[in-house]
Amino acid sequence: EANKARVLYWFRTDLRIHDSPALQAALALDQEIGIEAFYPIWCFDPQYVWKHRVGVNRWNFLLESMSDLSTSLTKLNPKQKLFVLRGSPEKVIPLVFKEWGITHLVFEKDTAAYARQRDELIFSLVKERFPHIKVIVKHGHNLYDPEEVIKKGNGGKVITTLMSWKKAAAKVADAPARPVPTPTSLPDPGDTSIDITRADTKPLEKIKSENPAWTRRANKPIKDEAGSGNAMEGPFAKLDGLNVNREIMDDEKFDCFDTIAGPDKDFAVPTLESLGLGKATTHIQGGETEALRRLQAFLDDAVGVATFSKPKSSPNSLEPSTTLLSPYLKFGCMSVRKFYWDSQDVCDKYAREHKGATMTKEPENLAGQLEFRDMYYCAEYATAKYERIEGNSLSSRFIAWKLRNKYDKDGQLIEPRPRGDEVDEERFSAWKEGRTGFPWIDAIMRQLKQEGWIHHLARHAVACYLTRGQCYISWERGTEVFDEYLLDWDPASNPGNWMWLSCSAFFSQYFRVYGLESFPSKTDKKGAYIRKYCPELAKFPDKFIYNPASAPISVQEKAGCIIGQDYPAPILDEQKEKARCLARLKVAYEVNLHGDSPDVMNGTAEDK
Ligand code: FAD
Repeated sequence: EANKARVLYWFRTDLRIHDSPALQAALALDQEIGIEAFYPIWCFDPQYVWKHRVGVNRWNFLLESMSDLSTSLTKLNPKQKLFVLRGSPEKVIPLVFKEWGITHLVFEKDTAAYARQRDELIFSLVKERFPHIKVIVKHGHNLYDPEEVIKKGNGGKVITTLMSWKKAAAKVADAPARPVPTPTSLPDPGDTSIDITRADTKPLEKIKSENPAWTRRANKPIKDEAGSGNAMEGPFAKLDGLNVNREIMDDEKFDCFDTIAGPDKDFAVPTLESLGLGKATTHIQGGETEALRRLQAFLDDAVGVATFSKPKSSPNSLEPSTTLLSPYLKFGCMSVRKFYWDSQDVCDKYAREHKGATMTKEPENLAGQLEFRDMYYCAEYATAKYERIEGNSLSSRFIAWKLRNKYDKDGQLIEPRPRGDEVDEERFSAWKEGRTGFPWIDAIMRQLKQEGWIHHLARHAVACYLTRGQCYISWERGTEVFDEYLLDWDPASNPGNWMWLSCSAFFSQYFRVYGLESFPSKTDKKGAYIRKYCPELAKFPDKFIYNPASAPISVQEKAGCIIGQDYPAPILDEQKEKARCLARLKVAYEVNLHGDSPDVMNGTAEDK
């Protein structure tokens, strides 16, 4: 029908139907001009995947979240589902614009660096080739739009403290927006056939050549080096319908149009198997349904919500001592504003009913946690090259970490990477694989690999150990391992927290190093957590659980585990390396303080 809307709703960071301002805006078109066809899509972006090391557990979480969303869409309209398109957005989206006669493109705003470049390209495409299409973008992934907080609230400057974030956010709004209603129905999709012979990429080449953002996009996939797992061998090696292999990495050659709808031509959510991946090992299930269930379970315990205190939660409890909502926030299965306001409402009610009761304040309380998340999004928004050391203005305290990444003049990671000496390489691999000989570190790294989630203070412990605590290895390498293993891996929170923990930015108390025995034993004297994730140590007496190498051989024999044989001996001397790291950090801080750091930058000042 003339003048009615044909809407392409592009799901990206918002795999949910509750509290979605973008989805609400898309559906509001029905009242405004009527909707003739509504296409909810997900677009697999090979470029994005190649740039990351997504491990099997995060893939699994994503696919479960997509399936759950698809089911919810079908519940709103039996003719609806999530239409999964295989191929780069800048190629696939113009094709469906044409084939499906789209008049409106709607999506949730994504302020991360890569997403901004991708979206710029889409905006240029619309402007040049589809000027009749109206693009509607709504923010909904944060408490406040990071772009507004930086631009309106902080004069475009970067933010590195929660206090400055709060001040800047207050200039944007008095409080985060309240959640919007969940839709109760959806319009029908239109015809979904696609004639791929009509695909025309010529104008795209022109736009790409004129769009500097495009040339900055990394075409090359990240290769994995020895000792660093093989996550990239699996994903997309034979992604169903994508016809991609590791040789066809050059985007010019990459053509997916013949398989855009998947092997059965039905736009189905792919399976792990069809992606050439093995089985997931995590017990954490993806999807909005599970996110809402977890949130409700948390809210049901009003005392728990009112007294939630992050620093007091335990990093090594067998059941998570925090909400474990981070992966759901990452994929947008959980709205951050709903999380914020529902918790706030429980706290307010609790305060009314329990006059004078002690309640946790910011930043330790839940609101504070969500604000930290927003702060990192703002820092990422305002910092070029945020995820790396070279050229990153935030991480300007140059510290001569081992195994730092190097980049060529176009900003591409130089591979193979500069190798460290054997000791550094071995320390890095042992850390990643959970075989350092320090049960506390090994248990955490094994939980991370197995479940895809670890407690915040456990992240502190392993990040501190790898960087400024003992190994003196670049935080960039730590972020990459977390990228592979974490379900909640996030382009803002992950590098940001690594910079914090390594005292490269945000935080500077480098002399505060976590003890590998003293810290975990505060919350787990008997080492139940160690026994779970390092089962070879299960029979050690409590006294030796954090330092099994110190047990007499008779104790080791009785425990059925000989150190150095059945479980590694510690690969380094905790105290000696801590002292070396402290000395190096002290030098780096002094040099940086005087604004004169070439030696440190070039790595010649290390180990002196
Ligand atoms: P809760 O304590 O229940 O907090 C609620 C929510 O607040 C979290 O889900 C999260 O979204 C947010 N939040 C809490 N603390 C932080 C924080 N320090 N930074 C940012 N957001 C926070 N979080 C990620 O979401 N993705 C990452 O890639 C990530 N990488 C990290 C790397 C390191 C080295 C460290 C030290 C922390 C990292 N974090 C990351 C932050 C934090 O550890 C997790 O968000 C948190 O542990 C998730 O568990 P939860 O949902 O139970 O948190």
